[in-house]
Amino acid sequence: MSVAAAPRLVLATHNRHKIVELRAILTPLVPGLDPEVIVGAGDLGAPEPVEDGVTFAQNALVKARALAAFSGLPAVADDSGLCVDVLGGAPGVFSARWCGRHGDDAANVDLLLAQLADVPPEHRGAQFTCAAALVTPDGFEHVETGVLRGRLATTARGAGGFGYDPVLVPDQQPARARGTLLTGAELTPQEKNAISHRGVAFRALAPLVVERLGL
Ligand code: IMP
Repeated sequence: MSVAAAPRLVLATHNRHKIVELRAILTPLVPGLDPEVIVGAGDLGAPEPVEDGVTFAQNALVKARALAAFSGLPAVADDSGLCVDVLGGAPGVFSARWCGRHGDDAANVDLLLAQLADVPPEHRGAQFTCAAALVTPDGFEHVETGVLRGRLATTARGAGGFGYDPVLVPDQQPARARGTLLTGAELTPQEKNAISHRGVAFRALAPLVVERLGL
């Protein structure tokens, strides 16, 4: 009979897809951290706190603090979104509900494209931003930020990714693109993780996780 390992690190998300993605990013970076000991907030029955911050870092800290207090374990949280230059950084922390409903990706993209219909290519700069926070029950707090710069396309392309991926063309393109500009939704998960705001933020946070978990 196998006995489940005790959780060591808890991720502030109820989204299974995100838990899989963050386990994939974190485990190669944190030697000795078995994926089995990384659990999601939902596995522990933790409530979802109100994200009332006005920056990605504030919201990531709100989620990580609430979960560290609830679980008594080191907690990791992220908060992310799309920031468009000509919109002064919007949708920003409102990215998931830009169209007025939470999580309707297609409607969010349609509204954004309509808002930028007359904006020429040279003014279509934008970036995904991710704040990744680590909070431990003894009061340690740290936030790292990652950015993926790019340009907004005029129509949505690609079936991969999620959210605004079909309209952001990253500045950094894979070698296989050979001059064709691919959107985030046309990249493989590995290609996206290698350059993504989330990948950058969590690669920067990983050494702190190693230190705080005493690995
Ligand atoms: P959250 O970090 O899960 O709260 O993400 C907020 C919103 O930002 C998502 O619903 C997406 O609309 C957008 N977003 C964040 N990261 C990405 C990404 O990697 N690709 C596309 N959209 C993203």
